[in-house]
Amino acid sequence: MKGYAMLKIGESGWIEKERPKCGPLDAICRPLALAICTSDVHTLWEGAIGERHNMILGHEGCAEIVEVGELVKDFKPGDRVLVPAITPDWNSLEAQAGYSMHSGGMLAGWKFSNFKDGVFSEFFHVNDADGNLALLPDNINTVDACMLSDMVPTGFHGVELADVQFGDTVLVIGIGPVGLMSVAGTNMRGASRIIAVGTRPVCIEAAKGYGATDFVSYKDGPIYQQVLDMTNGVGVDKVVIAGGSVDTFAEAVKCLKPGGKIGNVNYLGSGDNIDIPRVEWGVGMGHKQINGGLMPGGRLRMEKLAALVTAGKLDLSPLSTHIFEGWDHLEEALFLMRDKPAELIKPVIRI
Ligand code: NDP
Ligand code: ZN
Repeated sequence: MKGYAMLKIGESGWIEKERPKCGPLDAICRPLALAICTSDVHTLWEGAIGERHNMILGHEGCAEIVEVGELVKDFKPGDRVLVPAITPDWNSLEAQAGYSMHSGGMLAGWKFSNFKDGVFSEFFHVNDADGNLALLPDNINTVDACMLSDMVPTGFHGVELADVQFGDTVLVIGIGPVGLMSVAGTNMRGASRIIAVGTRPVCIEAAKGYGATDFVSYKDGPIYQQVLDMTNGVGVDKVVIAGGSVDTFAEAVKCLKPGGKIGNVNYLGSGDNIDIPRVEWGVGMGHKQINGGLMPGGRLRMEKLAALVTAGKLDLSPLSTHIFEGWDHLEEALFLMRDKPAELIKPVIRI
């Protein structure tokens, strides 16, 4: 089978590989549609998870099942499925402790295009099919379905990590597709004011639709100064970080009220340390929490998030700005994601 792979840091291309084998609990799937993630860019061009050779990229897509193992109970060949980017081992101790995304070690629930071949391939392997796949509802199209792999669960996890409550004023740093879903989740959680940080006009328009009330450009000076000016020097209750760099945390801490919480889902592709400003962190006593997490994966999460779409509460159509037809466009879509032209939010390829 053919797959689009990271050959080494900075180099990618099509390769031939053996079709993966199906274990007793597993499924083999063929993609119906695929999406490119900023994480693919970090992995391939920044070497953010280290060197990988001939590893097939991709962890966002929906698929049709072509084979299931003999112990799989709820799925069969021909089923159309949602596929989460994170596919934990549900019988692990980490999963029992509530951190399935770290099953088998830190971040090890993230298997596609990390510890094994990803989904940019004619066929891909899903571990624990009953625990990780979900049926694709009839009224969700294959393009929107790709957003449920990673963008929705990650953006919403930032909101969970920041513990957004009714009436909160929330700062969402980064309004690419992940941050847009953080804006949507923040709005659903009942925030009052949602201040969004980003510059691409297409993202700003989408953020307004998802509930952002105010905007800040990180290009117009320090974020914290602008946010403190907008809030009469008081700051915000919560911050969701879905963009920026290791330097963004200092800004976020400065924006927070005492007792505030930061939820980070940004993938820090470079830099060694994160600075926490001593004074604004209450000289160690400000009750300002910093939480960072990989999105939870698995079937229940997919089913619940898909239910928001089927119920008409979450419109994913603004995210997929570039839709391509066929494998031949996969590389073009990947390079587009790296270059982030102004009119791009997310590229998707229908197979
Ligand atoms: P994008 O690159 O599309 O969006 C990034 C956003 O951050 C844009 O709005 C951008 O603004 C803004 N930004 C850029 N530089 C700064 C800065 N210095 N300060 C503040 N904001 C800035 O990324 P995605 O939405 O696709 O992904 C966001 C992050 O989430 C990535 O790092 C990705 O790897 C990570 N991720 C994490 C996952 C997890 O499970 N934790 C899963 C999936 C993704 P502008 O409008 O100017 O472009
Ligand atoms: Zn992703």
